[in-house]
Amino acid sequence: MNAISFDNRYARLPPRFFAPRPPAPVAAPRLIKFNTALAAELGLDPDAPWAEICAGNLVPEGAEPIAQAYAGHQFGHFTPQLGDGRAVLLGEVIDRAGRRRDIQLKGSGRTEFSRGGDGRAALGPVLREYLVAEAMAALGIPTTRALAAVATGEAVRRETNLPGAVLTRVAASHIRVGTFQFFAARGDTEALRLLADHAIARHDPAAASAENPYRAFLQGVIARQASLVAQWLLVGFIHGVMNTDNCAVSGETIDYGPCAFLDTYEPGKVFSSIDHGGRYAYANQPRIAAWNLARLAECLLPLLAENTDAAVAMAQEDLAEFGPTFEAAYETGLRRKLGLSRSMPDDMALIEDLLERMATNAADFTLTFRHLSAAAETPTADAAVRAQFANPNALDAWLPVWRQRLAAENTAPAPLMRATNPAIIPRNHRIAEAIEAAVTNDDFAPFEALHAALATPFEDHTSPYAAAPRPEQCVSQTFCGT
Ligand code: AMP
Ligand code: MG
Repeated sequence: MNAISFDNRYARLPPRFFAPRPPAPVAAPRLIKFNTALAAELGLDPDAPWAEICAGNLVPEGAEPIAQAYAGHQFGHFTPQLGDGRAVLLGEVIDRAGRRRDIQLKGSGRTEFSRGGDGRAALGPVLREYLVAEAMAALGIPTTRALAAVATGEAVRRETNLPGAVLTRVAASHIRVGTFQFFAARGDTEALRLLADHAIARHDPAAASAENPYRAFLQGVIARQASLVAQWLLVGFIHGVMNTDNCAVSGETIDYGPCAFLDTYEPGKVFSSIDHGGRYAYANQPRIAAWNLARLAECLLPLLAENTDAAVAMAQEDLAEFGPTFEAAYETGLRRKLGLSRSMPDDMALIEDLLERMATNAADFTLTFRHLSAAAETPTADAAVRAQFANPNALDAWLPVWRQRLAAENTAPAPLMRATNPAIIPRNHRIAEAIEAAVTNDDFAPFEALHAALATPFEDHTSPYAAAPRPEQCVSQTFCGT
């Protein structure tokens, strides 16, 4: 049996889509973590030499390693050529559910697109991506997955020498808004059409038979991004670097860099050390997603209609759908967070009132909603909710109004709330702690324990990993680490 049963399509596209590049072998591969459940889902051979394969030291049969070309707007500034500077796509597999998935090594050495970079990844960011991607999957949010983390036995030079690692990433595809921008910037309409056809076959097969397949594709991407960003906000996730090259047309969350989850609820929260203007702040994410989609729509204009004015009109009409689609998903999600399965006229005012009280009282986003789930059953749980607020009386006026509204529900709110409001999220200080132990002491026990706790977010947790940080434990800044 082959380690991986590849069925590669992207490598069949014309040469200007990528640069063939085998991963560069590393000194001493050591498997830190292997996702056996995901491997089974992908039909991989559990007994293959995964440390060597995931380090890039052994290229499995059928792999066609390529670095993919893409462009992108980074913090609003366009770079016509970025590309995989430290990653290679090994190839594609069809998983047990019949879905096509990419298998990519990240941190696998220099490529045609490395520019000044070393093509490598440090252990810290690899562990961070592993933890957060898998936590997002457990939360039911579309995301790329982590198949493996391998230590390379080599140092990477950042501000200091750090242990190196390679992450094996699994994605519905690695096609980004920036991939379309790469060809649009070159006026290469033929490549745009091939890329769009490829993406349609992969992500929007129904669009192929639509009256205007490219328009149906654009509409599909818009709908997926609107839903994705709503899901991010509903769990307090901040991506941190929503550049167009980190925006996947599949609708999966991709590229976990300086990402973080809210502890206290602060709409303007920024964690990333390089996001000085707050472009990618928590509450700004819907606006940025819409901006990214407008960049995609611009690329697709030559495919939408022969007449440019007609194409622009179509794109504008479709982009206008982002706001309402996002709002609908976000509002439905917020209602569910409060146990409201039906929609009533004053719901949003009730919810906004709560959010405002949370913001002014530095209430923990996750724990407030989780404890409210218990309070929906019994007012004795109110104390735990109140304890989240700087002023414990801040909810005195709100709780009775909420309870009155709950009385209008036909279904029991608590089960809905428990299935919607996680008890545990990957807290920033816990991630930092797990990374610190691994990087400085080669101790992976905290990483393992945190990973295990994050696998069941909707069960009750008494583990310390579920607790909010005490003020002195708070980690309020994150770094790209590239
Ligand atoms: P990211 O911040 O990971 O989304 O990366 C942005 C761009 O920089 C992509 O083109 C990456 O491939 C490239 N890049 C990031 N880190 C490195 C590195 N260490 N070596 C080479 N290229 C890199
Ligand atoms: Mg990226």
